[in-house]
Amino acid sequence: HGEAGDVVVSTPNGPVHIGEHHPVVVVAGPCSVENEEMIVETARRVKAAGAHFLRGGAYKPRTSPYAFQGHGESALNLLAAARDASGLGIITEVMDAADLDKIAEVADVVQVGARNMQNFSLLKKVGAQDKPVLLKRGMSATIEEWLMAAEYILAAGNSNVILCERGIRTFDRQYARNTLDLSVLPVLRSLTHLPIMIDPSHGTGRAEYVPAMAMAAIAGGTDSLMIEVHPNPKKALSDGPQSLTPDRFDQLMKELAVVGNAV
Ligand code: PEP
Ligand code: MN
Repeated sequence: HGEAGDVVVSTPNGPVHIGEHHPVVVVAGPCSVENEEMIVETARRVKAAGAHFLRGGAYKPRTSPYAFQGHGESALNLLAAARDASGLGIITEVMDAADLDKIAEVADVVQVGARNMQNFSLLKKVGAQDKPVLLKRGMSATIEEWLMAAEYILAAGNSNVILCERGIRTFDRQYARNTLDLSVLPVLRSLTHLPIMIDPSHGTGRAEYVPAMAMAAIAGGTDSLMIEVHPNPKKALSDGPQSLTPDRFDQLMKELAVVGNAV
């Protein structure tokens, strides 16, 4: 631990502190791990742009059972290769407690997705292992429900929890996939010491809206950001419309440095 409330994650490149008293930490990468070349290339590009963590789904919670479900265990091996190639820490989602041990072998932070925010048996299990946990807000979860979900992890013995806002269900889905609730920034700060992450990619669903919301999140005091980046968004197997190209991500990182406390 660093200062009270920080989450300190060890990565191949050294410890990364996530919290109020540290520069903004950026997690970047594709929605899904598609093949070795794309994940290693993305890792190198986002690392060069200044990201601290590589994200990428191996097990994907898709609305339709006929949509791409992720490459599973083989994608974990590709994440390990990208970790070796870049030195970046890895963040990937666990959907089923049966996969937790093998995910935790590769992941530096284990993600619990929006759809599992109140999967209490899964929360107890990620709480009983020692990798830090990224807990995304359920798509219709109140702040109280979200904090109580985090409490399950803390109560099971794991104090390293990061809260990630990823947009809430909205009545108007014509122009944005979700409503990114940036008001959680001051609200959570007043209620908890846990570090806060904002995910404007899932929060808006549109790549063209991501930079403005990333900057707003930094201005609002976020501790970290999650940004989806894909080498060829038009060909992505999931979430292409909200994914930045590596070039656009590189530009965004420079824009974020101007706003404030970034990287
Ligand atoms: C993700 O991060 O890839 C994801 C599925 O996000 P969420 O759980 O917020 O929908
Ligand atoms: Mn996604």
